[in-house]
Amino acid sequence: MTSARLQSLREELARCGADAVLIPRGDCFQGEEVPASEDRLAFISGFTGSAGVAVVTKDKAALFSDGRYTIQMAAETTSDWSCHTMPEASVTAWLKDNLTAGAVAIDPWLMTLSSYRQFQKAFTDSGLSVMKLDHNLVDVIWPDRPLPPSQPAWDYPQQYQGQSRQEKITAAITQLKDSGARQMLITGPDQLNWLLNIRGNDIPHSPLFLAFGLLRDDGTVVIFTEDDRVKSIDQNALTVIPPSDMLDHLAGLSRMTIAIDPATCPYVLADLLDGQTVEAASIITALKARKNPVEIAGVHHAHRRDAVAMVRMLAWLDASSGLREVDVAEKLLELRAEVDGFISASFATICGSGPNGAIVHYRAEEGSDSEILTDTLCLIDSGGQYLDATTDITRTVAIGEPTAQMRHDFTHVLKAHIALDQAVFPKGTTGAQLDAITRAPLWAAGMDFAHGTGHGVGCCLNVHEGPANISKRGTVALEAGMVLSNEPGHYIEGQYGIRIENLLVVRPEDGREGYLGFDHVTLVPMDRRLIDLAHLTSDELRWLNDYHARVAEVIRPLVVDRGDDDVLAWFDAATQRI
Ligand code: ZN
Ligand code: ZN
Repeated sequence: MTSARLQSLREELARCGADAVLIPRGDCFQGEEVPASEDRLAFISGFTGSAGVAVVTKDKAALFSDGRYTIQMAAETTSDWSCHTMPEASVTAWLKDNLTAGAVAIDPWLMTLSSYRQFQKAFTDSGLSVMKLDHNLVDVIWPDRPLPPSQPAWDYPQQYQGQSRQEKITAAITQLKDSGARQMLITGPDQLNWLLNIRGNDIPHSPLFLAFGLLRDDGTVVIFTEDDRVKSIDQNALTVIPPSDMLDHLAGLSRMTIAIDPATCPYVLADLLDGQTVEAASIITALKARKNPVEIAGVHHAHRRDAVAMVRMLAWLDASSGLREVDVAEKLLELRAEVDGFISASFATICGSGPNGAIVHYRAEEGSDSEILTDTLCLIDSGGQYLDATTDITRTVAIGEPTAQMRHDFTHVLKAHIALDQAVFPKGTTGAQLDAITRAPLWAAGMDFAHGTGHGVGCCLNVHEGPANISKRGTVALEAGMVLSNEPGHYIEGQYGIRIENLLVVRPEDGREGYLGFDHVTLVPMDRRLIDLAHLTSDELRWLNDYHARVAEVIRPLVVDRGDDDVLAWFDAATQRI
């Protein structure tokens, strides 16, 4: 079927005079999820992974994604396609190898300003050029393309906001004026949802209403969407302009300086406003990252309820045998669905048994998942979207009898986790500095992990958000109120994976002027069977016992309320002092 589609696409390619066309997985909003109407990559290639890009020329078709999808790319595509794993392979290098000269067509809605610049730079001194299309070539050949999301936006309940729309707009405009801009193009839907205190149901895993917006210095916000999708939300300070009029509206703003964020601004909009923009990271992203007291209370509350679902799942897992990985994902969804304020999973659950745990972004899929093996480890990374917050937690548990090596490795990952949890640091400290503190206990044992230590987390928004992160590339300083994950790991290919993840809130350190520390909000037992006391210092052991005492103090009453004696017995054993 994709052969016929490729044939049609090549006819469109010839019609517009281009030699190659790029088909990214993303939509104009650049989120991790896309609505079905935007999944052009799956339509043209058959590949259903969450990241990737296709390049189609007159006689070749190439698919690119990252290491977690190497096998899936090959399995889901026909012989028309060659599959390539990034970053070892790159789209621009492939294009230069396979086309000596010609035009590479892009849809400028689907490429950000910063990606466009990188892409163009890669073709310097080659015979290749970039061609901006005025329509998407895939859409022309996709007769049964699903309809775009049409559900209405909803007001984010006032009790969870902590700040009114007007207060947020005022704070954003104050900073906007400092930047010298009069208006700001809002190209990240999570920013617009936060600013307006709205949410939506447009994509899986994030309660987002997908739209672009324009913040104006008169204290109003334009939302570019169909009128009927927002007529039931609070209309205060809101102007609605249909997406079909967006370009005309923006073109009419000539002689006005507009702030844009190159990381999310589609090239088509940056190009339209060329000469009248100030480029900077979004001020809304920075404001949104510092959670207010009401949001922080929500983060704590949601994590307590989420912990009960996790505890019930872990007790069930220990009491079961012969399960498959997808059974765990399904059980978690079923248990979270019983929690007050639950909206959806915050991402597709990762449940990796044995060797699958070593594949960092492994996702168990019905039909291709494994049985949960015995005498090894099982890594479970999952989360929920709740009205008051977003959760993200990883626990690694022993199934059967763990080896001494597994216990050694788990204990070292725990040491790294404790190192970050306990860190006290001066204001201005960046994520990269904290990343090194976290890894130090692993490095000391000749261990490491090939992913970041932590990412920002939204409140009833995206589970991954900026601007701060804790990683080798973390250049942003942490600030009080930010919510970040603490998720060091260790992975042995072909054997098992270990990760321990809690969410942390950054807070001023008591009695230490100018210093910050963390509060952990995730309260779920760590697997005591995997701890080798020979490798814990007395301070680390005290941390572990204090942590379990805190879990017992806060979560036990909620477990008792459920009236399930088996779960309570499991919980009491799991939180015992060591
Ligand atoms: Zn996670
Ligand atoms: Zn995470």
